[in-house]
Amino acid sequence: MLNEFQLDFEQGPIRPPNEARSLLLRITRNCPWNQCLFCPVYKGQKFSLRTVEEIKKDIQTARDCADDIKALSWKIGESGQITYAVINHIVSNHNYSYSYKSVAMWLYYGTGECFLQDADNFIIKTKDFVEILRFLREKFPDLKRVTTYSRSRTVSRKSLDEMKEVKQAGLDRVHIGLETGYDPLLKFIKKGVTAAQHVDAGRKVIDAGMSLSEYIMPGLGGEAMWREHATETAKVLNQINPQYIRLRSLRVPNRTLLYQKLVDGEFKMLTDDQVVAEIKLFIETLDDNLTSTVTSDHIMNLLEEIRGKLPDEKEHMLEVIKKYQDLPEAERLIYRIGRRGGLYSSTDDLYRDQTNYDKIKKLVSELAAKGPDETESMINEMANQYV
Ligand code: SF4
Repeated sequence: MLNEFQLDFEQGPIRPPNEARSLLLRITRNCPWNQCLFCPVYKGQKFSLRTVEEIKKDIQTARDCADDIKALSWKIGESGQITYAVINHIVSNHNYSYSYKSVAMWLYYGTGECFLQDADNFIIKTKDFVEILRFLREKFPDLKRVTTYSRSRTVSRKSLDEMKEVKQAGLDRVHIGLETGYDPLLKFIKKGVTAAQHVDAGRKVIDAGMSLSEYIMPGLGGEAMWREHATETAKVLNQINPQYIRLRSLRVPNRTLLYQKLVDGEFKMLTDDQVVAEIKLFIETLDDNLTSTVTSDHIMNLLEEIRGKLPDEKEHMLEVIKKYQDLPEAERLIYRIGRRGGLYSSTDDLYRDQTNYDKIKKLVSELAAKGPDETESMINEMANQYV
């Protein structure tokens, strides 16, 4: 029998932004593809499957953590509730493992949601995936939602019946990195999938009764392909009609393979203003019969307010874009710096705090005095800190 300080299970490096308060369980390690030029996440890491026994052991350990935390709450007079006092007790004690602390935070938030890591979990044999999900649901019967990441190509290789089995075993939602629907760009970025496979996989997830979250990557087409990237991606989504379309803008830190193409001049980044124009074209090309919810919940996005339910809020999203585009150039620059520095999440924030506005304005003059590229280079550095 392990004591509370020995309770520990494996967790992976990333999860979607909206799964920040979910219980994280790692059921495969890293990415079996690992070739996308823009992706820094698993570079240098080897993919491996985990055995069903290993994963079940982790699920059992997560259950033991949850039970132990509840018992601790009784012990310190909090009546089994996961209160701030319980969290404080656990987080401030370095003897507890990171995963034990993450279960405590999950119980504190009370979302009842679980995200299965890593990048492509439909690669697991269907019968094993079903066994894992059933065990998870048995150990955590109150889970409200179980989600995972997968690649379109992997999902497109599963039959609809297999997808339905996985749904019935307890998987509610799949997050897919669609990135773009333009085939030449999919090839250039080495996504290893075609637009047709994206459509097939997306439809299959929905037809199996699961909810689908598609990530698209504004800026990915660069100067050469931005227009086709915007329109062809929208056309692919028009055929899928996913529950969620999520924007996650391109950044190119030097640990990505795309960085060398940037240095060599083979890839030319769009400016922030060009990316905004690209998103406008993308939204305009989405059909009026889509019922997806668009979100811009990634910190790398310049305009967080581009969000809403289609078709009714399409105009609202275009208005958010217009509001930014109508700002004088000097104010767009101040907004971009404030956004990248974590101060602004709406263009209205420009007028909410005069002190911040004046500070950024002063910074802009100082940077301009140092040289013509200083401002852009600082904004770039600030934006890359989130990758
Ligand atoms: S499939 Fe996903 S995790 Fe794998 S390399 Fe591409 S973007 Fe990265």
